[in-house]
Amino acid sequence: MSDCVFCNIIEGKIPSVPVYENEHIIAFKDINPQAPTHLLIVPRKHIPTTMDIVEGDMKDIIPEIFAAVKHLAGQFNLEQGGFRVVNNCGKDGGQTVDHLHFHLLGGRQLTWPPG
Ligand code: AMP
Ligand code: ZN
Repeated sequence: MSDCVFCNIIEGKIPSVPVYENEHIIAFKDINPQAPTHLLIVPRKHIPTTMDIVEGDMKDIIPEIFAAVKHLAGQFNLEQGGFRVVNNCGKDGGQTVDHLHFHLLGGRQLTWPPG
């Protein structure tokens, strides 16, 4: 999608700080970090929201998301302290980029409930 910021990052048209990638997903640093570690894990395929995930994605993409979470938690030394994985979905969920993504936040004590 030419007007999608994450598709443009995936295609190398917008710069990012990549931290992990494989056939199905990429991960890069959030441009406006809300914690000492704030990464975005994003499928290469343009899937607008969680509600647009289809059966094939459940096999190919979703397992890779959580494999990346575990890999990155190790890479960024979050295993011991813990971390949070967030998917904002739709307007009430606070989603601002309409390309499925999972936030990985850590490196400080996170509060609950979120705003
Ligand atoms: P959400 O509100 O869940 O849709 O999250 C979108 C996230 O994308 C926000 O945390 C933004 O800071 C982040 N973001 C937007 N544009 C960029 C960009 N060019 N590079 C990295 N992160 C971005
Ligand atoms: Zn996209």
